[in-house]
Amino acid sequence: MTHIERQSPRPAMPERFDEEFDIIVAGAGGVGLAAALFARWLGNNVLVLEKADAPGGTTQKAAFWYWVPNNEPMRALGIEDRREDCLRYMARLSRPEQYDPDHPRFGMSEWEYEAYEAIYDNASVATELLANKGALEYRHCAAVPDYWAEIPEDKAPTGRVLLPKDACETMSDGGKVAIRTMLAAAARDGIGVRTAHRVQRVVQDARGRVIGVVATRADGGHIALKARKGVIFATGGFTHNVEMRKNHLSAPVLGGCAARTNEGDFVHIGAAVGAELRNMNYAWMCPIVLEKALQQDPGLIGTFSPSGDSMIYVDKNGRRVTNEKLAYNESAQAFFQWDPAKCEYPNLVLIAVWDRRSQEHSASDEYGRFIVPPGADAAHVISGRTLEELAAAIGARMAQYSSVIGGMRTSEDFAANLRATIARFNGFARAGKDLDFRRGERPVELLFNGPTAATPSAPNPTMYPISDEGPYYAALLTGGNLDTKGGPATNARGQVVDRMGEPIPGLYGAGNCVASASARAYWAGGATLGPFLAFAYLAANAAHREPVN
Ligand SMILES: Cc1cc2nc3c(=O)[nH]c(=O)nc-3n(C[C@H](O)[C@H](O)[C@H](O)COP(=O)(O)OP(=O)(O)OC[C@H]3O[C@@H](n4cnc5c(N)ncnc54)[C@H](O)[C@@H]3O)c2cc1C
Repeated sequence: MTHIERQSPRPAMPERFDEEFDIIVAGAGGVGLAAALFARWLGNNVLVLEKADAPGGTTQKAAFWYWVPNNEPMRALGIEDRREDCLRYMARLSRPEQYDPDHPRFGMSEWEYEAYEAIYDNASVATELLANKGALEYRHCAAVPDYWAEIPEDKAPTGRVLLPKDACETMSDGGKVAIRTMLAAAARDGIGVRTAHRVQRVVQDARGRVIGVVATRADGGHIALKARKGVIFATGGFTHNVEMRKNHLSAPVLGGCAARTNEGDFVHIGAAVGAELRNMNYAWMCPIVLEKALQQDPGLIGTFSPSGDSMIYVDKNGRRVTNEKLAYNESAQAFFQWDPAKCEYPNLVLIAVWDRRSQEHSASDEYGRFIVPPGADAAHVISGRTLEELAAAIGARMAQYSSVIGGMRTSEDFAANLRATIARFNGFARAGKDLDFRRGERPVELLFNGPTAATPSAPNPTMYPISDEGPYYAALLTGGNLDTKGGPATNARGQVVDRMGEPIPGLYGAGNCVASASARAYWAGGATLGPFLAFAYLAANAAHREPVN
């Protein structure tokens, strides 16, 4: 990790600006590129500065589902998605402890409720504009359910998800497609994108208005750029800033899938000019392969699909502790359970165990799967001819990492417990009912089940008895970030606000670099990018309306 340059509370004005633009956008991920396009289409002269050597950010790793309430194809199909219902759904999941169905804002703060309104009112408008301008055309994933499709508050359980039109059948390259098409539109429409330019700070005039940025180039040189109307930050979260992870997240997260350059720069830059910080304790989460996270693999993809029907997760004692098929954000929470008597995180590492059936029918080298086919990178896979051999190999592998996982080791009775756990799971699989964790009972669990053997089958498609005969396989998993959710707060126009709730003139933010009002919720697939496009649109429009300085 490299630190942002130290700043005095009010850095001196540069002697002169090297260049001028109407609007400067920091960060060339999906949100920054969308904001730049929206601002350009309003007639502004726009520059994008990107810290990495190439544009794309975390977005280019994404499947790029985008969750767009009351979207155009829903309307065309006559699928009703009423504003009040959609806001209720968002509120119910974001802060369940505050949710009040009879309250005018469903128990949410004004800030949260206005953000939900902004999403509902603008995500579809933003999406249509991007599509009509040929920057991001989409197809409708009409059958994809929300992640809580079964709760009574979800009145439009399917239909809100869109995907870039040219994404492949497995949907794993949507982010690459979106970045490619938005970059092409940026080039076509005259937006400059400068890579290897890290924004270090904003420049304010005497009245506190943000009028430019100072950035560092790859050669270490500084450049000062004037923004006549405003600066929009879209610089991602703080997943790869270890200190910030430790100080702000409520869980011991060991890594994540965000772009390696997402180090929380805007938290420092925004705080230095008085921005209010919110929801620093939340992240978009996913189980990840422990070893890939510790190796800081830049290609790390989360385990979105916990594939394999004859597959279970067990703890260091060889016991199941969770429903393996939960949607990724919820599944990740199991790793951070706290044992108050032992003062430890007993599940910080869980072990996925599977047999030959899942190996042969559920393997894929696509998109973060831990069951990989022959020829794929299988360094994380542990194997044994018998359960006892597998247990010994798991113990040895885990011991290699004990210094970074709180000294965690497999227990002495791990192999015996694993055998008993498998016997119990196999009974559930034969009956089709998981009496311990209700695996496979919710629509979202079927969505992410992944491919399984067609025959023989069992009554519950997510569970099949684990074989009495080896070989057996395992992988160490932990909970990780896709990226973080906290940062400077913005209002419903995308303006960054100070600690008194007043907009900091000329300063805007969207995407994972600013606070998300979703708090602990992951409403559905695409619940980051759909709402972010709404805020990119709002920020660009508000910046466009700023007086020229
Ligand atoms: C594997 C994977 C799959 C996902 N799938 C989905 C999905 O299908 N749907 C969905 O909604 N979400 C998905 N997500 C989450 C989604 O990718 C992110 O929430 C979203 O892409 C964030 O966009 P962003 O533009 O805010 O940040 P990013 O795309 O991370 O872009 C931030 C950019 O800012 C740059 N930057 C950082 N600091 C500076 C600085 N100081 N100056 C200049 N530039 C800077 C970074 O280098 C980076 O390029 C997925 C995430 C992962 C990891």
